[in-house]
Amino acid sequence: MVDFNRPYAWLVEKERSISGEIEDTAIVFLTNKECSFKCLMCDLWKNTRDQPTPVGAVPKQIEWALSQMPQVKHIKLYNSGSFFDEKAIPVEDYEEIASILEYFETVIVESHPKLITEKCLGFRDMLKPDLHVAVGLETVHPEVLHKLNKKMTLEDFRKSIGFLSQNEISSRAFILLRPPFISEIEGVGWAKKSIDFAFECGVECCTIIPVRGGNGAMERLHKKGQFEVPKIESLETVLEYGIQLQSGRVFADVWDLSLFSNCESCLEARTQRLNLMNLTQSIVPFISCDCNQIP
Ligand SMILES: [Zn+2]
Repeated sequence: MVDFNRPYAWLVEKERSISGEIEDTAIVFLTNKECSFKCLMCDLWKNTRDQPTPVGAVPKQIEWALSQMPQVKHIKLYNSGSFFDEKAIPVEDYEEIASILEYFETVIVESHPKLITEKCLGFRDMLKPDLHVAVGLETVHPEVLHKLNKKMTLEDFRKSIGFLSQNEISSRAFILLRPPFISEIEGVGWAKKSIDFAFECGVECCTIIPVRGGNGAMERLHKKGQFEVPKIESLETVLEYGIQLQSGRVFADVWDLSLFSNCESCLEARTQRLNLMNLTQSIVPFISCDCNQIP
């Protein structure tokens, strides 16, 4: 069981900033109450608790994480759900969180579109750093989005991003590569369409997340033939597409890429390619290998 007094993980990674510099960015994975939305593909509930987060716990977690890491300019506070869910992050803690974070340039939190309200503006006003909000778009495939049980329409997404933009808050979209119920090729096509839609709505950045198993539900769908993990080449294809649009930053989630490859000869090279494309936001030469199967 995770402990309210500690974040369940933290790390520092390189990320290309809006201004084009490659800078260290901290990610603190906050321990808090389980998200009230039960999305089909989500496995983040594993690191959450059932009861509301006690007041004071989240500021302590952030302070603890900061005491463990080097000083960096940007920080992501990810809470396996929505930062603006009051049972997850108590509103009473906003002020203290803002004061702990005053030396950062950017603070990035995540939220479900339905929880993006005036409350975000209240938090933004307390913050010295710029506030960015990451929002899961997942997919613009209408039936698949419905089946994911996210309880969000594309219109909800558009409105939330519009609200953030009007209030000069940057946003990024999380986009799934190959959610269940669709083929590899369809997965690539719908991820591209989802990037188009996200930028059209006004996001500044998109992160492509290849869908992995691990939460039980995805394993059941896999057994029924309704879910396969995408291939690493598909992630490369979608990242290339997103970058060449030049509409904003596009990143591939590169966590545990070995899940998406069966080829030991090129996994390392493809991982490096994806990392380099993330950091340079330009297309890096294609990796040719005997395993190439994507047309
Ligand atoms: Zn290969």
